[in-house]
Amino acid sequence: MTITPSPLQARLAAVNERIAAACVRAGREPGSVTLVAVSKTFPAQVVRGAAAAGQRHFGENYVQESVEKIAEMSGNDGVDSLIWHFIGPIQSNKTRPIAQNFQWVHTIDREKVARRLSEQREARLPALQVCIEVNVSGEASKSGVNPEELQALADAVATLPRLRLRGLMAIPEPTTDEALARRRFARLRELRDALNGRGHRMDTLSMGMSADMDAAIAEGATLVRIGTAIFGERKHA
Ligand SMILES: *Cc1c(COP(=O)(O)O)cnc(C)c1O
Repeated sequence: MTITPSPLQARLAAVNERIAAACVRAGREPGSVTLVAVSKTFPAQVVRGAAAAGQRHFGENYVQESVEKIAEMSGNDGVDSLIWHFIGPIQSNKTRPIAQNFQWVHTIDREKVARRLSEQREARLPALQVCIEVNVSGEASKSGVNPEELQALADAVATLPRLRLRGLMAIPEPTTDEALARRRFARLRELRDALNGRGHRMDTLSMGMSADMDAAIAEGATLVRIGTAIFGERKHA
């Protein structure tokens, strides 16, 4: 008997195949890229469907929405093993629920936010895994720390006791120019490698979304953040 996959399962499988193919083209191990399914704006019911199909890592952008969703999901079969990534902009007065509910934060862009997350991370929880968001697009983007200020921020974050600095994250400006996309992602990799050359030990590059994941994987992405290609178009935000 064959079981027809749901549209969500089929899209998830297609994204996993796309990641594997991009890895092969880049001469990388298929297991070297982790898929973070970006479930923002979609209800817990939809997340449950993806979890049932084997998806473990989920990304969320909005504090209120995600805290409610995580609470709704916990206690259900198997979903306690889900890993939640905060990937949205962070206001410094909203750090506590992020420190309490997430395993990863990708969007650290200033020391104040990092310090608060470290202070608010409960002792009973493992250290919060974090990435620093870097602006690799210059004038075309406003989010992320500028490359010139990255080293000072990385040095500061690395000293915080309840954070573990895992790597760098970027959201380059949207472009249909594949070569430009590759250059932006290569820049992030080079910045990470330069910091590692100065004593940091970062193993993570969070880069690539539905439209540009292939270019990101070619340049070394270890986490790709994919929403639309899995869940379909978002109605808002
Ligand atoms: C929404 C979002 C994504 C997913 O984008 P898609 O184009 O839907 O794949 C990835 N990363 C961040 C930071 C986002 O805000």
